[in-house]
Amino acid sequence: MRYDRFFADAIAQLHTEQRYRVFADLERIAGYFPRAIWHAPNGPKEVVIWCSNDYLGMGQHPSVVSAMIDTAKRLGTGAGGTRNISGTSHPLVELEHELADLHGTEAALVFTSGYVSNQTGISTIAKLIPQCVILSDALNHNSMIEGIRQSGVEKRIFRHNDLGHIEELLRTAGRTRPKLIVFESLYSMDGDIAPVGRICDLAERYGAMTYLDEVHAVGMYGPRGGGIAERDCVMHRLDVIEGTLAKAFGCLGGYIAGTATLIDAVRSYAPGFIFTSALPPPICAAATAAIRHLKVSQAERQAHQNRVQRVKAELIAAKLPVMASDSHIVPVRIGDPVKCKAASDKLLADHGIYIQPINFPTVARGTERLRITPSPCHDDTMIGQLVAALSDVWHELGLPGECAASAVERRDYRAKS
Ligand SMILES: *Cc1c(COP(=O)(O)O)cnc(C)c1O
Repeated sequence: MRYDRFFADAIAQLHTEQRYRVFADLERIAGYFPRAIWHAPNGPKEVVIWCSNDYLGMGQHPSVVSAMIDTAKRLGTGAGGTRNISGTSHPLVELEHELADLHGTEAALVFTSGYVSNQTGISTIAKLIPQCVILSDALNHNSMIEGIRQSGVEKRIFRHNDLGHIEELLRTAGRTRPKLIVFESLYSMDGDIAPVGRICDLAERYGAMTYLDEVHAVGMYGPRGGGIAERDCVMHRLDVIEGTLAKAFGCLGGYIAGTATLIDAVRSYAPGFIFTSALPPPICAAATAAIRHLKVSQAERQAHQNRVQRVKAELIAAKLPVMASDSHIVPVRIGDPVKCKAASDKLLADHGIYIQPINFPTVARGTERLRITPSPCHDDTMIGQLVAALSDVWHELGLPGECAASAVERRDYRAKS
């Protein structure tokens, strides 16, 4: 049997569908971000990264970097075990206290990634509730979908951010049946924001529990970086808040925050928490440093929003097809996977600008896009170069211009929901 043939066939399929992925080999330059060395096939080259989820540049912040180095020197590198078997380090315990404080909850629990926290968190919570039915937003992240699938409980999908549809599903599920609403605050491919408070209204009216993914909002929104729920003053109304330490906090790891009882139950039953080594102490200390900094400093959040507004305004002025977005995510529509990849390749090779193409299955076919994420570290010169390079590539590839249509589409859609 030639087993390798199966894998070769699977890869060939991706090539046929034009969605085979190539990773850029990057070496970020700390202190000089968003600049990085791209190890191109024909040698290294300096580029500017425009698609990082290290949204605020905290991955190079001096106090975050030194927390990691100092802790590695004092405590060593790895955790040395699972949480139960010697892996619960003091920096990890401190990190959990910091996170509970950030979200105003009794407790928090750290996992090795945001992905794992959703996957094992949602499945464990849902399994522990007899007769539970999950209501899930149609655009939820894959980690949430996997968590729901693994729970094995009944699920009903509601149209994206559609309050009417959520209410209808809550009503059909019935008063007595336990219901869990699983959704995100900020959807990272379109950059739109959920009506978190109004979803809480419905949850309270129909006796449902809420689980909110704030991965793309923690650190960036709210007076202390608690996320969209904090910004909207509804943080205390959510049952579970989930977040990552790998995006705006610039490190690695994920977490859930909630009541002491819920956290204790997940700690005791979640396989993805129990059977894996704990997060290393240096990473925990670095994450704590980033969270503490962003709890008191508004500078990064203000500069971030300022850069975002400038990028959006300049792209619109250049008649590039910016998709409507309520947040720091700036999607530019291409609508074709081959052209999307070609545009990304050209930006990198000809202009030293790195923006990864976003194709199916990350977004629906026909909505392929470049997803731009400005940071406080992108200066006016870089923004000017970005817009000039995009205009150039748009012209060379004959890509569609201004997308007034999609802005209108989105507005109509909002009005309905
Ligand atoms: C990135 C992401 C995650 C996973 O977080 P990681 O820490 O990167 O594993 C979870 N939810 C959403 C919505 C995400 O975009």
